Amino acid sequence: MIGKILNNNSVQFKMKQSNKSLILNLLLTNGQTTRKKLAALTNLTAATITNLTNELINEQLIVEVGTAESKVVRKGPKSIILDLNPTHWTLGIHIRMDRMEIGFANLKGKAVKVENIPFSANMAGNQLLDFKINKIMEYIQKNAEITAVSIGVVTYGLMKDDRRLALVKQLERQFHLPVYMDHHVRAMTIAERMFGSYKDSKHFLVVYIGQGIGSGLTINGQVYSNEASLGNQLGHMVYMPNGKPCKCGQRGCIEQYVSEKLALEELNCSSIAAIIEKLKNNDEDCIHVLTKYGQYLGTVISSFIHMIYVEKVILGGQLIFDNSPILTETQKYVDQSKLTNRQTSVVRSSFRDDAGVIAAASIAFKKNIYTF
Ligand SMILES: [Zn+2]
Repeated sequence: MIGKILNNNSVQFKMKQSNKSLILNLLLTNGQTTRKKLAALTNLTAATITNLTNELINEQLIVEVGTAESKVVRKGPKSIILDLNPTHWTLGIHIRMDRMEIGFANLKGKAVKVENIPFSANMAGNQLLDFKINKIMEYIQKNAEITAVSIGVVTYGLMKDDRRLALVKQLERQFHLPVYMDHHVRAMTIAERMFGSYKDSKHFLVVYIGQGIGSGLTINGQVYSNEASLGNQLGHMVYMPNGKPCKCGQRGCIEQYVSEKLALEELNCSSIAAIIEKLKNNDEDCIHVLTKYGQYLGTVISSFIHMIYVEKVILGGQLIFDNSPILTETQKYVDQSKLTNRQTSVVRSSFRDDAGVIAAASIAFKKNIYTF
C-alpha cells in the first residue's frame, strides 16, 4: 500500500510524505514522545502534526501508548504518548551460499522467529529457487500470527543476476507484497545507521568478513549508494601486487588473504565455532592466523581512511567475536597513521545472528519509512 502511495508525484504530496518520514525518524531516534514535542522538534504547526500522526496511526505505523504525566495542572486533554508500532513487521531474508536466514523485523529493528534454513549442496537453478519459495511459504504459514507488510531480501554478488530477479518476481507473485532486494553488506550498513550502537557517528565504514569481504560506507549520516556499483568493494583493494589471483580479474585482492573460508582451511577446522574454541584454549596457530588477518585488514583499512575519514570502522562476520585478535590488530594498524590527530575506533558490529534479517528489513524501511 505504501509503495503505491509513493508513486504519486505531486509536490504537496511529497512534502507531506517527507514530513511523515521526519516524524518516524524522530520516533526512532528519540523514542516515545508527544504530539506537542513533535511540533517543537519539527517546527510544524500543532494542527499539521495532529493530521500527520492521525494518518500514521491509520497506516498502522505508529500507536498511542498512554498519557504523559504533567506536573503542571492544566485544563484540557492530557498529552498522549506516541510510539512506533512494534507489530509493523517486515519479512527479512538473507540468502547465503549454503543457507538462508529468515525472520520478521519491526520498525525498531527488533527481529523475532529467526531461523536458518540450509540448502543441500546438490541443488541449483530452478530446483533451488522452488526450494527457497517453498521454505519461505512454510515459514510464513508456521508463523501465521505475524503479518508482514513487505519483504526485504539481501544477498551477496551481483544484484542484476537473473536468478536473483527471478526470486524477487516469484516472491511478489506468491505473497502479493512489495519485495525489495539489495547487497547484504550495503543493507547491513543501512541497518547500522538506523538501529546500530554507533548510529550517532556521522562517518563510518562497515566491513563484513564472510566468504569474501564486503563493505558499506556512511558519510554525513547518509549511507553511500552508487547505482553503478555494488557499493564499496573493499575486498578487492589490492593488498599484494602480483599476489593470488582473484575472481575479479586482479591479483592480490585483500579478500584472497582474509576470509572465513581461508581461516577454516588454514586452521584445519570445520566450523567458525571450532576456531573460537581453539582460541579460547590459546591455540598458537589460531592466534597467529587471526593476528595476521588483522594486520592485513588494518593495512588496507588504514589506506582507505587516508582517502575518506571515518570515526568508526565496524567489523562484522563470525570471525569478529569479542576479543577477536582481528579487532585488536586492525585497531593497532589504524592507530599507526600519524597524518592527523583524528581517531578512528575499530568496533564489533551491533548485530549478532539476526544481522541478515534486520539488514533485509532495513532496505524496505529505507524505501518506505525512514529517510536515512
Ligand atoms: Zn578481487
